[in-house]
Amino acid sequence: MKVKVIGSHGGVAPGFKTTSFLIDDCLLIDAGSVAEGLTVDAQKRIDHILISHAHLDHIKDMAFLCDNCFGLRDKPFEVYSHHTVKNAIKAHLMNDIIWPDFSKIPNETNPTIRFNEIIPEKKVMIGGYEILPVSVNHPGDTLGYIVQKDNVALLFTLDTSSTDRIWQLAKKYKNLAAIFTEISFPDHMQAVAELSYHHCPKTLAKEIRKMPMDIPIYIGHLKPQFHSELITAINGLEEENLHILDQDGMILKFT
Ligand SMILES: [Zn+2]
Ligand SMILES: [Zn+2]
Repeated sequence: MKVKVIGSHGGVAPGFKTTSFLIDDCLLIDAGSVAEGLTVDAQKRIDHILISHAHLDHIKDMAFLCDNCFGLRDKPFEVYSHHTVKNAIKAHLMNDIIWPDFSKIPNETNPTIRFNEIIPEKKVMIGGYEILPVSVNHPGDTLGYIVQKDNVALLFTLDTSSTDRIWQLAKKYKNLAAIFTEISFPDHMQAVAELSYHHCPKTLAKEIRKMPMDIPIYIGHLKPQFHSELITAINGLEEENLHILDQDGMILKFT
């Protein structure tokens, strides 16, 4: 599987895009920066979109993706999320007030976007990928995803604080090639990190002990205002398997 890290940060500033991972040019995980970070041609080639949760940094570019691509495709973008997330996006973003309801544009039979509900721990096949959604510890029924194809599995917790179930299930995947997870705040802001259900380096170091052993761990969601401070702190953890997603646009390959 090829993963293009369109955006991997926990905030927006020049040079920092929010969460969007594109797998094999066709399966998008979160829509934080997909319109900002891909050409319209590349946006048109996306078929399926997994959304972790309804926080703005993970959904905002769904609005512009639809605006760019409506009428240019012969089928809708198929969006998959927990029903809480689907209801939030429909009520608060694509509600014909903040943004048009693209599930009715150009028309209801052939819309730009179609919302589908997925259920935690119920595997689904989406576009040739086996997806296991797992609830993680972040507001609004947030899901992490284990994505598997061609005997390679990748795990995306996306936003979360300390959690357990996804690590238990991950240990069943002997073909797990990478874990994508997060650190948002520096250690001196641990109280804010915990209040907002995110990690700081200190809590992530504890979390690693629960993860499957010897798997590369890619850390994203660094807040732009703490970027260099966090990189120093994460490198200071001296964990061999840690990699920092500090360059939006990078491409990673897993076989
Ligand atoms: Zn986030
Ligand atoms: Zn969030």
